[in-house]
Amino acid sequence: MPQKTKDTPMMQQYLSIKKDYPDAFLFYRIGDFYEMFYDDAIKGSQILELTLTARNKNAPDPIPMCGVPHHAADNYIEILVDKGYKVAICEQLEDPKEAKGMVKRGIIKLVTPGTNLEDKPNQSKENNYLAALFVNKKTFGFAYTDLSTGEVNVTSFVDFSQVKNELLNIRCKEIVVANNLAEQWIKQINKLGILVSREEPQKDYAEVAFVAQSLKAVAAKQAVKYLISYLIETQKRSLAHLQIAKVYTANKYLQMDHTVQNNLELFRSLRNGDKSGTLVWLLDEAKTAMGSRLLKKWLQRPLLDRQQLQQRQAIVQILLDNFFQRSSLQDYLTKVYDLERLAGRIAFGNVNGRDLIQLATSLKQVPKIKAVLRDLNEPIINDLMTQLSDCQSVVELIQQAIVDDPPISVTEGNLIRSGYNQQLDQYREAMKNGKTWIAQLQTQEQKVTGIKNLKIGFNRVFGYYIEVTNANKDQVPAERYQRKQTLTNAERYITPELKEKERLILEAEDKSTVLEHQLFVQIRDQIKQQIALIQSLAQKLAFLDVLQSFAVISERYHYVQPQFVEDQQIQIVDGRHPVVEKVLGKQKYIPNSVQMDADTSILLITGPNMSGKSTYMRQLALIVIMAQIGCFVPAATAKVPIFDHIFTRIGAADDLISGNSTFMVEMMEANDALQHATPHSLIIFDEIGRGTATYDGMALAQAIVEYLNNHVHAKTLFSTHYHELTALADKLKEVQNVHVDATEENGQLVFLHKVLPGPADKSYGIHVAKLAGLPPSLLQRAQKILDQLEQQPPRTVTPTTNQETTTTQVIAEAQNGQLSLFNEPQPNPYDGLLQQLKAANLLKMTPLESMNLLAKLQDELAQKGG
Ligand code: ATP
Repeated sequence: MPQKTKDTPMMQQYLSIKKDYPDAFLFYRIGDFYEMFYDDAIKGSQILELTLTARNKNAPDPIPMCGVPHHAADNYIEILVDKGYKVAICEQLEDPKEAKGMVKRGIIKLVTPGTNLEDKPNQSKENNYLAALFVNKKTFGFAYTDLSTGEVNVTSFVDFSQVKNELLNIRCKEIVVANNLAEQWIKQINKLGILVSREEPQKDYAEVAFVAQSLKAVAAKQAVKYLISYLIETQKRSLAHLQIAKVYTANKYLQMDHTVQNNLELFRSLRNGDKSGTLVWLLDEAKTAMGSRLLKKWLQRPLLDRQQLQQRQAIVQILLDNFFQRSSLQDYLTKVYDLERLAGRIAFGNVNGRDLIQLATSLKQVPKIKAVLRDLNEPIINDLMTQLSDCQSVVELIQQAIVDDPPISVTEGNLIRSGYNQQLDQYREAMKNGKTWIAQLQTQEQKVTGIKNLKIGFNRVFGYYIEVTNANKDQVPAERYQRKQTLTNAERYITPELKEKERLILEAEDKSTVLEHQLFVQIRDQIKQQIALIQSLAQKLAFLDVLQSFAVISERYHYVQPQFVEDQQIQIVDGRHPVVEKVLGKQKYIPNSVQMDADTSILLITGPNMSGKSTYMRQLALIVIMAQIGCFVPAATAKVPIFDHIFTRIGAADDLISGNSTFMVEMMEANDALQHATPHSLIIFDEIGRGTATYDGMALAQAIVEYLNNHVHAKTLFSTHYHELTALADKLKEVQNVHVDATEENGQLVFLHKVLPGPADKSYGIHVAKLAGLPPSLLQRAQKILDQLEQQPPRTVTPTTNQETTTTQVIAEAQNGQLSLFNEPQPNPYDGLLQQLKAANLLKMTPLESMNLLAKLQDELAQKGG
């Protein structure tokens, strides 16, 4: 009986390797191709658009197969990993020509989303994090690392929602967990689109002990163990660049959860997810990729520590005051390559000669940077300067050993400098002599044979040969010359003497390339000893780079140093929204002050749509964040307290992942703030309550303001279209009204974007609708309805200042009709219509959508007899 395809030795080998990597695409090397089989081939051919064939097509059991050429494999691997899959790379571990029997094969690396090191040009400013989670009793140990830089961070959480939030914040792509982690957590992580790798460490690794050396808590230690073991087991190579884990505690920093960071557009714009128009886009004037990555980390975790903040501010001020030194510093930093990632590549052993030249060029900037810092002659800068190690021994080694312009390959020679190694010099001399000898031989043979155009050439197949054109071939000394190759117009010959010399030359060449590679590996290993120093230097240079970036933007946009006050007051004079100001231009932006003394905790902001309420609120939040990363802020003067937490409820972000409605999300976010804010927190509530019916919404909005006033005392900016709420300022101690000014000129609305004390006197919704081009008849009708509504007495309820009265009570009372919340609450037939008109976000609608809305409104109006 013929052997089944799957029983052939090769497929047996394949299946035994595949068994250990069930969740990865197995790229199985056969000659110049990586082949995939079975389901890997079926799925892989679909994703990678490859032709699906079969191994042993005509056999009774053909095996699905597809393949990619090995030289193009990186692109295919990248596509799969980008889509969240793992790829196991299986190589031939011996030369097939020398193999006795089946060629040995083994996995040399597992590429996964969290460990992918592919250097994409636009990714240098981003970190790629792999996380690990370990649950011990009720504590979640959480660790994460960037394999390319070797940084490891670890913390503990008590609540799973914090884990989810952190995963989103660090934009994690993959998480390692223990086999027995409860399904409920796995499901929640999967919902975030993060790959979960369930892996048990196969043994105790020395690297784990090193990274976890300062950790005590069991959960945190275990998380690091899973993280590092996974790295070692997937990478299967040296990880000498891993750093000692840094413990962090979220509440030691200004806390902002993922939605807050999104809402405030710190890293991605709400409109299209781009970097453009975000705070990091504005602030990033860093000259190095390390600086850009550090800035992102700072923005994710602004500081609470006054002293640290003042240190950053002081350095920014010095750099601002010293233009020339700052320019020199920038010039030198521009020449510093990504030292963190170079250190990583040195550890993996995949640096080439060019990387080492980049390393030397970078390190050569250090003495110059130190000289500039010394020149500044400031104690705080001197401290920083003395911490910069210039790693001169590394520079010297590279300068002595590596040629100025080395090739990409490290195995084909031409990268070690002459004079660095005696043996190598001897080989080179032999090669050179051999070549001179050959040149002399050519002249000599020309003379002896009388063939003037006789020449000696070289090709890879025949080696050295003597070439004679057909016209002269009769003159060839047949007794000495051996014919080797016939061309159309020439003959090629060899002589024993020439072949002997060729052997010597080629041998010297071979030996010299092998030796060059050995020397290169030695040099790399020598530099590996200095990795910790290079990493620490990289961190300090990144620190300096971010601060010079702050100085640059502070000067360019006229920012001022904020002053941190002890009590809970905010005094920002002529503040600006940094990003809107950059987009609009300084002349067009109207500065606005925020004045809140220690006793005022809530600013109720009213004003027409489009007047600038959201901009004003975001402006404050961004100023606070900028202040707490040590940057200067867009204002004439600024006094702010240090905030511990920022909460936001802005816009209508559907929580599609968890299937919650817009209003539900609105209430959940509001609740988060009400439950967790302290008097040191900042809350931004943009039109709370607008996601439900008017009365409902207004009741909730009022109750929330009261609750904030009575129980929370956090600094709150609360914008609202419910003018009725402005009456609260008279009754609640901590509430004040401000409004964004607008005026009418010739029946047209003119936005002044100026925030002034007191409530707005009109809602200008109909004017905005007019600006948007709604039909005049509809606008007239809306005006008529509005006039009727305004005839009715105002609708507010006596606010509660009673500490015991809760929001739910207020709502319950309102629902039971016990409160005279709304005088004569007769349903208005046009309420729904107006509500739709008001809720429509014209700026975000396509012309077709607005036409449809309009048609619908007209229909409804007609049905109501309007
Ligand atoms: P809505 O109630 O419809 O959400 P809003 O009152 O919150 O509107 P914003 O979205 O803050 O209004 O601002 C609308 C536009 O007005 C902004 O896109 C910006 O171009 C402009 N704007 C806002 N504030 C200012 C300002 N201080 N100076 C100049 N232009 C401003």
